[in-house]
Amino acid sequence: MADIEAVPPTPILIAPQAVLRRQTRDVKPEDMAMLRENLPGMFSAMYKAPGIGLAAPQVGLGLRFALVDVANEGERDPIVMINPEVIEESETLVSREEGCLSLPNQYAEVVRPQSVRVRFRTLAGDVEEREVDDLLATCMQHEIDHLDGILFVDHLSSLKRNMIMRRLAKEQKGR
Ligand SMILES: [Zn+2]
Repeated sequence: MADIEAVPPTPILIAPQAVLRRQTRDVKPEDMAMLRENLPGMFSAMYKAPGIGLAAPQVGLGLRFALVDVANEGERDPIVMINPEVIEESETLVSREEGCLSLPNQYAEVVRPQSVRVRFRTLAGDVEEREVDDLLATCMQHEIDHLDGILFVDHLSSLKRNMIMRRLAKEQKGR
């Protein structure tokens, strides 16, 4: 994906779009062609934002897949997770500031397991298991949440969540 920036970015949906709250369905073999067609536009949108993850519901697709890339600036390490699941999580928790391309300009500290074991299918069709920690673990958990209709603000107190959602609505109105 050398010229990914040249691909028109797929528009990213902003909360409170209903599709962001829906449970996705598993990707089946017959969905793979459509999934592949959507990847370049999704990667382009993620890199352009710039962001480190993007889940299918964020572009209006009710399918269980997401992209992540937490490589340093100037480097690329794209990962496509198909039908991902968190199968183990550490007891150790970590608090990290999170944002979301569907909640632009909104950030908050979110507490999650510091490391997780994630199982997903790759584009090649292989089942992959990865033990990840730190930023990649946070990012993968955030993206897998999206596939279950969960946003990072759902991990906050209702007071904080409502404050962020109100601020977001206000900012979007002013655009
Ligand atoms: Zn997000």
